[in-house]
Amino acid sequence: MSICKGCGTEIDWVRMKSGKAMPINPEPVFVAEGGNQVFITDEGDTITGTATEINTGTVAFVPHWATCPAYKSFKRK
Ligand SMILES: [Zn+2]
Repeated sequence: MSICKGCGTEIDWVRMKSGKAMPINPEPVFVAEGGNQVFITDEGDTITGTATEINTGTVAFVPHWATCPAYKSFKRK
């Protein structure tokens, strides 16, 4: 577990299949098919869908940049 330097929230890291480390929100979510939100599985795959409260059998993580209030300011630099 580490802390995002931008917003101070706890984040986790997943090693992507590309070898890059991706910052994610530590709370996993259920993902329903359809939709264009990006999620990261714990195996390092990128999937798209919609976050849901319903147990769809697909569990993935929200990339931290999707929710980080400081992310836009990172990008501007
Ligand atoms: Zn952040």
